[in-house]
Amino acid sequence: MSRVLTQPETPSLSGWLIVILVVGVVAAFVVIWFVRHIVLHRRRARREAVIAFATQLASTDFVAGFPRCTFDPAAGDGATDSCAICLGQYEPGEELPMFLPCFHPFHALCLTQWLARTTLCPTCGASTFVS
Ligand SMILES: [Zn+2]
Ligand SMILES: [Zn+2]
Repeated sequence: MSRVLTQPETPSLSGWLIVILVVGVVAAFVVIWFVRHIVLHRRRARREAVIAFATQLASTDFVAGFPRCTFDPAAGDGATDSCAICLGQYEPGEELPMFLPCFHPFHALCLTQWLARTTLCPTCGASTFVS
């Protein structure tokens, strides 16, 4: 700021106007920089949270945290006897993780690979991303 304060010995009105103008421009730049910094920081924090969540989803540990059901063809209603991701039939007695929040069952491996790409249920489109 010392650069700005090199005024003439007898500051005229136009001299003061220039000082006020320069200070105003500098203040405007500082405000713009500050707002930009906050917006970019929030955006980056949000993106990092999504990436961290996607990484978590892609791990088998996360899928292991889903509730499980055992496939029983006798009890099935026919609509959920195959995996919507690979279209393969479930084996009787097969342990299947159920997607949250809709409880649609899938193969564990299919679901792990699916969640690496999207947080939406392949059957109904429900999102498991709770922020
Ligand atoms: Zn499958
Ligand atoms: Zn679903």
